[in-house]
Order: sequence, then structure tokens, then C-alpha cells
Amino acid sequence: MFVSAVVPAAGKGKRLGLGVPKPLVEIAGVPMLIRSLRTLGADQRIKEIILVVDKKELRKFSGIVLKYRLRKIKGIVAGGVRRQDSVRNGLKHLDEHSSLVLIHDAARPFIKKEIISRVVSTAAKYGAAAAGVEVKPTIKRVDNKNRVVQTIERNRLFEIQTPQAFKKELILEAHKKFSRVDVTDDAALVEKLGHKVKVVPGSYFNIKITTPEDLIFAKAVSRVIE
Ligand code: C5P
Repeated sequence: MFVSAVVPAAGKGKRLGLGVPKPLVEIAGVPMLIRSLRTLGADQRIKEIILVVDKKELRKFSGIVLKYRLRKIKGIVAGGVRRQDSVRNGLKHLDEHSSLVLIHDAARPFIKKEIISRVVSTAAKYGAAAAGVEVKPTIKRVDNKNRVVQTIERNRLFEIQTPQAFKKELILEAHKKFSRVDVTDDAALVEKLGHKVKVVPGSYFNIKITTPEDLIFAKAVSRVIE
């Protein structure tokens, strides 16, 4: 199987407030992005990785990729305004031999090989798969005055993560057809096509680094995961 991985890393990372591009922020001495790229590169079925970065940082990222001698990076391409624009730019560079596309956010440095494997196998079978974990808190929807309008039944509620994987034709069609719809993950575009997305177990360690406090948790995760 020829799986292509697309890694969106072109966010500005403003909420982190560090002045360094978020993917290059180090956790226990290793840049966040390098952690994911190493794990993805070690997967047998992933044959190429397309890295999507901020246009202004192309040179910096190329240098980092060289420095860490990362395997399987077939392209470093410029991102877009929204996350989905960055992914779409990455999708333009897929090898013609690839049949499955795995998408993983650079902001989630603690993916495990088991999750990658599960997502790939499930997408190969069902067409589309996303890692997810059961939601632990109680979730309520509020109106614009912060008054509760709904308590969402927690049973069957999942927090969706990356990696997500899709048959190539499916993800290309979804991104092409719904480029005007704003979404926060790729599965949402495939769902809009009417295709079922299967959720497979992710991990509570597979955290997304968004705000400064996440870096404190990340340090702790790096200790238990290595
Ligand atoms: O902003 P957020 O944390 O949701 O971003 C998720 C992932 O998408 C990050 O890895 C970020 O670098 C990437 N992204 C991107 N292009 C954008 C916005 C976000 O590649 N325009």
C-alpha cells in the first residue's frame, strides 16, 4: 500500500505567543514537528510525507528537515489562509502511486505508531477514518448571553483528533467540492460528501498544542511517552 502523509504546519501559532513558528517550539529539546515527522516516517505503509508550512518560513523549515535527516519528506510546500487551504495545497503534490492519504496536524506531536496503523487500516477498509477519544467533560451549548440552551448527551460524543486518513479520490473530491465551506478538520468535508467516517481509538496523550498551558502538559506527556 502506498500511503501519502500530508502534515499541515502552516498555522501562525499566535495563541502560543512565542514568536517562533509553533511547529518549531521545542518540547524536552525536540521541535514539536520533528516528533510527528519521525513517527510518521517510521511507518512502513507511509511512503512519502508532504510538509505544508508558512510561505515566509519555507527556508527555515527546509533547513530543519535537513538538519534532522528526516526520511520520506517529498515536498515542503506553502500553506494557505485556513488550515483546509494548507491541506489542499499539500494534496496537489501527491505521488501518482498513492492510494490513501493520511493527514496529521503538526500541532499534535505525540502520535503513536499504533494509532497511525489503525487509522490507515480502517481507511483502507471503509474509505475514511479519524482518531478520536470519548469526551470526558459534560458539554453544554449556550446562547450569545451564555445561557445554557442544551446539554449534549455525552454518550457517543467523541473528541476528534488527527491522524485522519482517506482514500485518495475521496479526499481530493471533498476538498475540491467544498472549498468554500469553513471546517476545522478534513473528515468534515468527507462527511459533507455523504461518506461515512469511521472513528477509531486515538489517545488522551495525543494532545493538540494551542495555548501556553498546553506546553506544560506537553512536557509531562513527553516524559511518559518516551
Ligand atoms: O490552528 P490550529 O491549531 O487548529 O491548526 C491545526 C494545524 O493546522 C496546525 O498544525 C497548524 O500549523 C495547521 N495550519 C495550517 N495552515 C493554516 C492554519 C493551521 O497548516 N492556515
